[in-house]
Amino acid sequence: MQELKDLVFRLLAVDAISGFEEPMMRALVEELTPYCDEVYDTPRGNIIGIQKGTDPDAPGIALAAHTDQVGFIVFNIDESGFIRFRKVGGSVTRSIQAHQMKLHGTKGVVPGVVGIKPGHITKPSEANIVPPIEEMYIDVGAKSKAEVQGMGIEIGTPITWKVEPLELANNYVAASGPDDRVGIATLIQVAKNLKDKPIPSTVYYIGTVEEEIGLRGAAVAVYDLDVDMAVAIDTCPAGWQPDVNMRDLYYEVGKGPAIHLGKGGAVRRFGSQVLRKWLIGTANDLSIPYQSGMVLGGNDAHAIQQTKSGIPACTVAVPRRYSHSPVELFCWDDLDKLIKILTKAIAGLDSGFTLHRI
Ligand SMILES: [Zn+2]
Repeated sequence: MQELKDLVFRLLAVDAISGFEEPMMRALVEELTPYCDEVYDTPRGNIIGIQKGTDPDAPGIALAAHTDQVGFIVFNIDESGFIRFRKVGGSVTRSIQAHQMKLHGTKGVVPGVVGIKPGHITKPSEANIVPPIEEMYIDVGAKSKAEVQGMGIEIGTPITWKVEPLELANNYVAASGPDDRVGIATLIQVAKNLKDKPIPSTVYYIGTVEEEIGLRGAAVAVYDLDVDMAVAIDTCPAGWQPDVNMRDLYYEVGKGPAIHLGKGGAVRRFGSQVLRKWLIGTANDLSIPYQSGMVLGGNDAHAIQQTKSGIPACTVAVPRRYSHSPVELFCWDDLDKLIKILTKAIAGLDSGFTLHRI
C-alpha cells in the first residue's frame, strides 16, 4: 500500500490542467516505460503504453485515464497588477475565493491568493452570495501589470490550487486532483502487476487529454489501435455527507470501487453491460466489495464507445467526496481494490471472451 501511496503522491504533485497536460504526459511516460514494450505520445497529447499479449486472437483492451485536471487560466491583467482568471473545467465556484493558488508562468511557479472583500465592509445582502468568477481576482503581490508580466505570467498562464494532500482517519485522504491522478496511478500499477506474467491480451494503457473539457482526447485515442474493448478509470462523485442525500448521489467513499452501470442525469448513456458483468464477476471471485450504479458526469468511456464501429466500454472509478474542489476526498482501500480487480480481470481475458450482447 505504501508503494501505491507514494505513486499517487508523486502524481498529485504534478500540475496539469486541461490543455496544458505536458507535465503529466512526461510523468506518465516515465512511470509506464519500465512496464511496457512500447510507450509513446501522440501529437494530440494522448500517451499510449503497450504491453503485447501472447495470443493475437485474444481481445485487445484499452485502459484509459485522463492526464488533465480542472483548474484556471489567466484571462486578463489589470494595470495595478491584479489578475482576472477563468475556469478550465468545472471547479466548484464556492471553493475558489480566499484560496492560495499556483500560477504556472514561463519562469516557474508564482504563488498568489484569490482576493476577497473584507468582512468588515461586506453588506448583509452580499454575505451569503458567491460572486461569479468574472468578479474574482488573483493577487500575486505585484504593483503593476508590468511587474506581473516580469514574473513570467501572461494571458493563458495555467493556474492550480496550492494545497498539500492531507491524510485523514480511516485511510481517507483529501487533495487537489485525485481526479484523475488515481486513474493514472491505476494504469501504472496494473501495468506493473501484469509485466512479469505474460497474458493473452494486448493491453493499451492510455493517458487521455482534455477529458474535463469534453472528453476530447479519448474521442481520438484508439483510432489507430487494435482495441476491441475499453475500460475508463476515473473518480466519481460520492455523497453520504451532511449536505447530500441519497436522492442525489448513489456512491459512498470507502465502500469499494465503482463499476458503473451508465451515466444518469438528463442524457443517459450506458456502458457495455458485458464488460460490467465481467468486472463484477471478477470482484466476486476476489470477494472484493464494489458499488454499481449510475454516475453523474461524462467520462472517457462515453467517447471511446462512440469511436470506430462502437467499442464496448465501461467505466470504473474511485468514489470521492467534494468533487472538483481543492479537497477531493477518497479512500486508499477503494483504489487498492480497484487495481486488484482490473489486474485479475485482464489477466483472465482470452480468445474465448465474447463481447457480443446476444
Ligand atoms: Zn475525471
